[in-house]
Amino acid sequence: MDAAFDAHFRAALDGLKADGSYRIFAELERRVGHFPKAYHHGLKRDVTIWCSNDYLGMGEHKEVLTAMHAALDQSGAGAGGTRNISGTCHEHVLLEQELASLHGKEAALLFNSGYLSNWATLGTIAARLKNCVVLSDAQNHASMIEGIRHSRADKRIFRHNDVGDLARHLSELPANVPKIVAFESVYSMDGDIAPIAEICDVAERYGALTYLDEVHAVGMYGHQGGGVAEERGLSHRISVIEGTLGKGFGVVGGYITGSAALCDFVRSFASGFIFSTALPPMIAAGARASVRHLRQSSVEREGQRAAVRYLRQCLDDAGLPHLSNPSHIIPVMVCDAKECRAISDALLTRYGHYIQPINYPTVPRGLERLRITPGPLHRKSDIDDLVAALKQLWSERPGLSQAG
Ligand code: PLP
Repeated sequence: MDAAFDAHFRAALDGLKADGSYRIFAELERRVGHFPKAYHHGLKRDVTIWCSNDYLGMGEHKEVLTAMHAALDQSGAGAGGTRNISGTCHEHVLLEQELASLHGKEAALLFNSGYLSNWATLGTIAARLKNCVVLSDAQNHASMIEGIRHSRADKRIFRHNDVGDLARHLSELPANVPKIVAFESVYSMDGDIAPIAEICDVAERYGALTYLDEVHAVGMYGHQGGGVAEERGLSHRISVIEGTLGKGFGVVGGYITGSAALCDFVRSFASGFIFSTALPPMIAAGARASVRHLRQSSVEREGQRAAVRYLRQCLDDAGLPHLSNPSHIIPVMVCDAKECRAISDALLTRYGHYIQPINYPTVPRGLERLRITPGPLHRKSDIDDLVAALKQLWSERPGLSQAG
């Protein structure tokens, strides 16, 4: 019986392998004090990680670890329940206050991941606002798409970052239906940034609620790490700012911030919030330490920007093709799925540089790439080594896409 099911599962996996989209895990072991180096258990050697979303190295920051150790010793391992049934810890409340303050909002609500915060919030609001229509950017993350789908609300997809197209869709909708404009600030694969002010202008003209995913921006942009909306002085114009605690803040978890009524509404109606055990108090404590640190320290952001500038300069000097964008994400364009995997493998096995290939379906076919996110803990010599390795691999493949 089980063998028949397994045959079905294997056939599906064979399909992924045949089209090059089967994902292989790298078994890495980070050691505090050594990031971005990590021990690769397959290769039995240290490698340098270039594709981590712990963008600022906060996952091993002393203040974060100290707060987590203290909370672990004080409160134990788990929260012990859902937030409603004995799982609300003092640390959750403190972290929500910190996040609301970071984004200049009345309230915040924690979730177990950024994925869940998008899924549950959009799924709940769009389902329960009668006749609601969601206007969703064409390149929105899967968690938003799934949330909108789950809500069963009508959806209109506007062209990526195209304010004119958004305005056209909005103008076609009846004035009296509730509308939600859902978009991201930094898009994670191309590293481009949304025209947030212009989107707010249009949304305000049509009375739409604005929902902004700042997952790749929190901790990273803005004077206090409040994201691109903070950097551009626009936080007050966004109805819901959503973020993660797992990337720039280096821990795990997700959240929304917005009005007290909206957060209480989601808290009260979202099944993905209500029916899941709360984050452990030590996680909340670590995340709060990270947020607090990055609100008053720009050292990490500056170090990260310097590394990005230096890597871009070295890629240009070496004639290696990369997408230009205003963010911290450097997509080195390979534009061929097999070559992308082969270069990633060679970087790892020959040179000890770990960068996962980004292939279809994450990006369209023909736009395969290496997505590099250098951080403040990469040294100049690490960057020099990486670019020398890339240059060598490009020289061995004359057919590859070139800069310019
Ligand atoms: N939103 C965007 C744009 C993302 O890229 C991701 C994850 O990569 C998420 C949400 C989910 O966040 P988390 O990793 O905290 O679940």
